Amino acid sequence: MKKLAQDIIKQSSSSPEIYQHHQKLCQKIDRYNYYYYTLDNPLVSDAQYDALYQQLVELEKTHHDLDTSNSPTTRVGGDVLSKFNVINHKVPMLSLSNGFTEEEVKAFYKRLYELTGQENLLFECEPKLDGLAISIHYERGKLSYAVTRGDGAQGEEVTANVRTIRNVPLVLQGDYPEYIEIRGEVIINKQDFLMLNKRAEKRQEKVFANPRNAAAGSIRQLDSRIAAKRPLRMYGYGIGANQGFILPRTQFELMQQIKAWGFQIADEIETVKGVDGLLGYYQKMAHLRADLSYDIDGLVYKLNEIALQDEVGFIARAPRWALAHKFPAEEVESEIVNVDFQIGRTGAITPVARLKPVAVGGVMVSNATLHNMDEIKRKDIYIHDRVIVRRAGDVIPEVVRPLVQYRTVAQKIEMPKHCPVCHSVIEVLKDQAVARCTGDWFCKGQTKERIKHFASRKAMDIDGLGDKIVEQLVERDIVKLPHDLYHLSLPVLMQLERMGRKSSINLLQAIEQSKNVSLARFIFAIGIRDIGEVSAKSLAENFGSLSAIQKADYNALIDIHDIGEVMAYNIIHFWQNHENRQMIDKLLASGVNIINPEKPKVHEINVDNPFYQKTVVITGSFVDYTRDELKEKLSSLGAKCVNSVSKKTDMVIAGEKAGSKLQKAQALGVFIIDESNLLTMLKEFDL
Ligand code: NAD
Repeated sequence: MKKLAQDIIKQSSSSPEIYQHHQKLCQKIDRYNYYYYTLDNPLVSDAQYDALYQQLVELEKTHHDLDTSNSPTTRVGGDVLSKFNVINHKVPMLSLSNGFTEEEVKAFYKRLYELTGQENLLFECEPKLDGLAISIHYERGKLSYAVTRGDGAQGEEVTANVRTIRNVPLVLQGDYPEYIEIRGEVIINKQDFLMLNKRAEKRQEKVFANPRNAAAGSIRQLDSRIAAKRPLRMYGYGIGANQGFILPRTQFELMQQIKAWGFQIADEIETVKGVDGLLGYYQKMAHLRADLSYDIDGLVYKLNEIALQDEVGFIARAPRWALAHKFPAEEVESEIVNVDFQIGRTGAITPVARLKPVAVGGVMVSNATLHNMDEIKRKDIYIHDRVIVRRAGDVIPEVVRPLVQYRTVAQKIEMPKHCPVCHSVIEVLKDQAVARCTGDWFCKGQTKERIKHFASRKAMDIDGLGDKIVEQLVERDIVKLPHDLYHLSLPVLMQLERMGRKSSINLLQAIEQSKNVSLARFIFAIGIRDIGEVSAKSLAENFGSLSAIQKADYNALIDIHDIGEVMAYNIIHFWQNHENRQMIDKLLASGVNIINPEKPKVHEINVDNPFYQKTVVITGSFVDYTRDELKEKLSSLGAKCVNSVSKKTDMVIAGEKAGSKLQKAQALGVFIIDESNLLTMLKEFDL
């Protein structure tokens, strides 16, 4: 199909085949637009849409004689729904030209350089929020009406719904002109979206595919009580029609004016110089993306000087002076070829979808987690389904949803009754979504994962004991329990694939070195269920020795900040198990030497300070300190610095760009201080 398209494109004049191909592409994209913009229910992933759209752009570029008057490339958005009042835009609401690669950004810059004749052009850069475009009109400072972008020429009147958005000012602040139209994006924050879907799930209502669809679906409700219940937010990014308003000189100043009228604007707005500035901003934002409170699908670069924007003008559906630089797709389409069941170190069985390989976020993916059977049921997934796959940040790829409209054969996914590795019975506890293999150390699947965990960097830190070596050692029955690692010999290691003499000697040395281990690392390494690195450290610091932890009862355990009820239960349960006690005895008998923590030097700390014995979370970035420096400073004052916010947190120190942790603290009513307050406190107490 791809080849046919390329061959067709190569021909110079438009043959009937090209004409037909062009028409088909237009029809297909029109159909996708209708489902996406009008029904808020996309048929395909954005990546697939973008690829198809790009194909159409290329085709029209190489064949000027094609009739493009009705092509989607000349149109903005989708149809307007007649269930709403339809309103003509006073100034058309356009889309943005897209660029996906560095070359396209350079070409954008070059074009502007040629059009303006100016070097070192300045740009105002913004995150490209992934929501729904909105236009809000203010007459004499009061919200008059609000309209969706629609097809760019006319949109749907959604005033009642927009009035329910809490961060949209009903009355403009400060000095305002006679008439002004503010444009922006309506979105739902990532955290709010998760809660919205959880609530919907509980009530057995429809869950949304992503924050964008949830926001768009909420704004286009006939009943504004529904919109009012949705956690919608609006971010301003420009203006439309206006009267009595003197435009500032730059886009950046315009944004500050929008903010001064009482709108929220994105925090990450910057001005940069030249193409290097644009690419630098891209690098920076690509890093920040996962930590932002909202979903963004790219960045928008706008020529900063408004006089220059006017000079370069518009093309059919977008301004020439702006570019949407899109991130590589994190959501793409694939097909589930099969489903396997993977055994984790706690015996938990995870269904894993084997996919037709696809590139997601720049990486080839052929497996994606389906989490558990409840998820499979909730998402209505079957083998052979066409599905949307997501990879966000460093998270393991997951199947987001099936594309049910393409389903032909639906093979049900069934949890096996016996472990696929050791054939032990699989246990499904009624109140837990997780199914577990009961094989314990008898199961080679579990043993492999347990040994990998035992040797990992934050546990015993055995350098050179990679996954492939562990798998061979377990598979060949050389290692059945962790202490077996301490009885490995050179000839045994040299038998393994990919192990030469030198690497075997190095590995033996690393194993030997790992014998001297801190109590915290040891506790983490033995893999008590739910005990992570931080809680292992807490146990070590609070009890001081292995025997004290073994003796600790439930009350003593839950007294510790990081230990909750389930963890306490798991710890007690772990020691009750005879095999676990034996495993530890064998490790000690094999030469493992646990180093207990030193008692905290309480007398050296001035206990009369506001941070002493307080549980503190540090989030965001700071001007005077790095996060690690702050952590060290506060720990030296007797504070306990932890990573996550909970009811037990005493204070959250929130720097610039603090995200979800700050939100959680606000929701829980935890005491929050910013950097300037922190500095004042430190000074006040002479710290
Ligand atoms: P766009 O999303 O590429 O860009 C234009 C829009 O960006 C503006 O209208 C505005 O709403 C928004 N925007 C966000 N932040 C902004 C900022 N800071 N400044 C200015 N504008 C900002 O264009 P589009 O026409 O809305 O949508 C096209 C895209 O939508 C496609 O590239 C595709 O990813 C997706 N789409 C998907 C399907 C599908 O079936 N999956 C169908 C149609 C469109």
